[in-house]
Amino acid sequence: MTPFSYRCTDCGRSYGRDEVRYLCPECGKGYHPGIPLLGVLEVVFDYAVIGRAFDRARPDWNLFCPVEPAYHPPLQVGHTPLSRVDRLGTELGLPSLWVKNDGLNPSGSLKDRASFLVVAEARRLGLDLIVAASTGNAASALAAVCASTDIKALIFVPEKAPKAKLVQMVLYGATVVPIKGTYDDAFALSLEYTDQRGGLNRNTAYHPLTIEGKKTAGLEIWAQLGFQVPEAIFVSVGDGVILGGVHKAFVDLQRAGLIERLPRLIGVQAETSDAIHRYVETGHYSDAPNPTTRADSISVTCPSNAHGARRAILESRGLTLTVTDDEILQAQARLASRTGIFTEPAGAAALAGLVKLQSGPQRLATSDPVVILATGHGLKDVEAPLSRINIPPSVEPVLASLQP
Ligand SMILES: [Zn+2]
Repeated sequence: MTPFSYRCTDCGRSYGRDEVRYLCPECGKGYHPGIPLLGVLEVVFDYAVIGRAFDRARPDWNLFCPVEPAYHPPLQVGHTPLSRVDRLGTELGLPSLWVKNDGLNPSGSLKDRASFLVVAEARRLGLDLIVAASTGNAASALAAVCASTDIKALIFVPEKAPKAKLVQMVLYGATVVPIKGTYDDAFALSLEYTDQRGGLNRNTAYHPLTIEGKKTAGLEIWAQLGFQVPEAIFVSVGDGVILGGVHKAFVDLQRAGLIERLPRLIGVQAETSDAIHRYVETGHYSDAPNPTTRADSISVTCPSNAHGARRAILESRGLTLTVTDDEILQAQARLASRTGIFTEPAGAAALAGLVKLQSGPQRLATSDPVVILATGHGLKDVEAPLSRINIPPSVEPVLASLQP
């Protein structure tokens, strides 16, 4: 672990590691549930130490980790494959196209990375309860990582979360409270709970180490490309924390003097859940009042990390775009049938965005690597693709019943 402090991403004040826990004490005063978070804290390492100590031949990733390895949970997360997908790349005019398959984490989503680090932090602090609100994946991830330790998970989840995710949480042994309301309602309730009854709140971006945990996906992409910065990374965007995490990976690498430029981050939102897209395009924030997308993991009215996500897009010279549910489900089928990678609708949104970009004036024309981040496993929500495929009818088990 490298020494670090927290810095407020709004006012720039610095705080010691144990001086703050969630938001900047000053800027966070202006925050209340129902608006994007204010005073989100960023981990700022002693980058000279990382720059001196990091060795590409024997990379020590703990240099980029803000919790000591002694507290890390036993469940192994991350280190997911980055696959080169030439069939798809040829179709889209990109000779070096890659998919980071984060559905292969233990609970089936990238969110295991954030939960891993927050559970490590709870162990360091000696806390025995972690509380989270989630559309499903973050809760499954927290439940899974907690199950490998003696820390309890209390989860508030919208009652409409896909059944597979609810099954996961219960099987992992978490206390699950389905909420008659949206993710945003669950988020507000979880804040009230930890404020009044205790426990560590794992809400995404509210706890700064969620961003640090998700950062590891970006560090791995860099290493897996032979320590090369890709031209662009396509990330599906709900509350904007995965996008913020991937951005932080490359910011850390740049500050440590290990890379010269950032990859362009392309944030893809569902058409009905487009608050960050409109914020980037216009500079003015407003909620997405009715996020009805089938891609439940990116269905958000008020993205918690809206401000951080916008900064990440602008700093990386990236862009955002929106896609329809039909485009998302088409992309899910295309990814599965061209690459063998089955990702949930939210993960497929990233490819849907790439497909859309390649058919328009901002088309990418590069031989440098382009990466699609597939954030969750397709088996988490089989109802979504079932709406547009036909399972063939049964036949008698005789050769004559098969088409020649
Ligand atoms: Zn502040």
